[in-house]
Amino acid sequence: MASQEGEAIRKRAPHVDMVFGPQTLHRVPSMLDARGNNQIAAVDVTFPEIEKFDHLPKPSSDGATAFVSIMEGCSKYCTFCVVPYTRGEEVSRPFEAVMDEVIHLSDQGVREINLLGQNVNAYRGENQLGDEIDLAELIACVAAVDGIDRVRFTTSHPVEFTDSLVDAFADIPELVSHLHLPVQSGSDRILNAMKRGHTAAEYIERWKESALTAPISASRRTSSSASLAKRKKILKPR
Ligand code: SF4
Repeated sequence: MASQEGEAIRKRAPHVDMVFGPQTLHRVPSMLDARGNNQIAAVDVTFPEIEKFDHLPKPSSDGATAFVSIMEGCSKYCTFCVVPYTRGEEVSRPFEAVMDEVIHLSDQGVREINLLGQNVNAYRGENQLGDEIDLAELIACVAAVDGIDRVRFTTSHPVEFTDSLVDAFADIPELVSHLHLPVQSGSDRILNAMKRGHTAAEYIERWKESALTAPISASRRTSSSASLAKRKKILKPR
């Protein structure tokens, strides 16, 4: 919410010293310095795209599993959601930066990599040659790293669920047969009102072969009994 409100927070609560969003977390030390020297409030709610990842400490893990952020933000603007306004548009980390992190974690004994993103299957990272790498290609490269036995990813959006990602489940043994794919509703009317960009039938087509977990949204105010019945129907095992 800090990203959304910015200076308005200071106006409402003058005793607040610093306002910053998740994209400028790494600037906290310099904001503290500025605050200490000048005694003026520091407000930084900008959206630098990749800068944060270059400043955060190198990832470490003392277990077999580690999480690697590969993209942030969301450009889908569902009607019920604040994320695009607070986290910014979708931004993917460069391919080599992600791979360096995976190799570094593998060297520490990590065996399972969880690729993370607000809309993880919208990943389109550039490599050093300027080519665009999608999530399916990235998974194949991560799975090929020595020592990596399992790859997972979360959270996906149904409209970004490409054929290449479907093929990845068939072709890459390290990719775990589990998919987290939010559906939100089984009613086309509600899905349309939410601006989800797909129908219930299109969703079912994508997941019928998968072991799946799926968040559902429901509002008593906007959901008719017919919509709630459709929600139950989409949950029935095929
Ligand atoms: S796709 Fe997800 S994160 Fe993006 S606006 Fe919709 S609900 Fe929010």
